[in-house]
Amino acid sequence: MSNLDRQPALSACGGRGFVVAEPVRELLSPRTVKLGESTEVRRLLPNLGRRMVGAWCFVDHYGPDDIADEPGMQVAPHPHAGLQTVSWLHEGEVLHRDSVGSLETIRPRELGLMTSGRGISHSEESPRPHARFLHGAQLWVALPDAHRDVAPHFQHHAQLPEVTAPGLTATVILGTLDTATSPGTAYSPIVGADLALTSGTETRLPLDPDFEYAVLSMSGEAHVDGVPLLPGSMLYLGCGRTELPLRATSDAGLMLLGGEPFEEEIVMFWNWIGRSHEDIAQAREDWMSGTRFGEVKGYDGPPLPAPELPPTHLKPRGRVR
Ligand code: MN
Repeated sequence: MSNLDRQPALSACGGRGFVVAEPVRELLSPRTVKLGESTEVRRLLPNLGRRMVGAWCFVDHYGPDDIADEPGMQVAPHPHAGLQTVSWLHEGEVLHRDSVGSLETIRPRELGLMTSGRGISHSEESPRPHARFLHGAQLWVALPDAHRDVAPHFQHHAQLPEVTAPGLTATVILGTLDTATSPGTAYSPIVGADLALTSGTETRLPLDPDFEYAVLSMSGEAHVDGVPLLPGSMLYLGCGRTELPLRATSDAGLMLLGGEPFEEEIVMFWNWIGRSHEDIAQAREDWMSGTRFGEVKGYDGPPLPAPELPPTHLKPRGRVR
């Protein structure tokens, strides 16, 4: 998915000095963002005062939306650099095309992982015909400086490892949870996992105390470390935890996001992550002149133009706004 905000705010994140070193329970409210004419998403990251969780730097939750008589998702070709995108669905499907020639349909609980590296472009659309409901999350992972210029590539994994306990199925999307590791390529110590809980479940999830974590609620009613979490909201949990108490009062779907606090300061603008104003200005120039980001074939429509850069010089300033 693209950040379709026509006046995207500059985001500067990173730096271990800003990470709480002990467990906290900080509720992050979503910001409603309109994507195109009809679609609304709930943006959890970046959030006021909380820009990243590990290398996770962008989290949108969308749906469930009834798109039976609608085109559904229609995101025209747009570029990315310096990051990975993770497409995660609970309902519906997304047809992905990109400039390295990928053409894949992503279905519920399958990993669509696009590593932009130095530059890629892609489109995302609801196929025709499509399922009635569309429900999912779109997430970005910042690439560390050492890997942000890797060759662009796309991975689709329909089979992912699971960690199970009575009433809990944890599907490992990216990185490692407990003893299970996702086949998706990760470039920093990270975890992303889908947690499916059945009503009445009370359990504890093993965590790495060196990671910071947050939990996003996708559906149902669950209590995370005692805090009731409604769909579309996220609870930041800090570092220093060896386990996480979970309790479901209905069938519930959560996403666990975590990782080593990301120490590098980054500049995020539109669909790019760089380290400087010059990185972003160059990416914009390259996209508008048709270089670096390749071409998406087969999408019915023109690519998205980049928004204007703000009049000020972009610089990373740390993760608190
Ligand atoms: Mn995108």
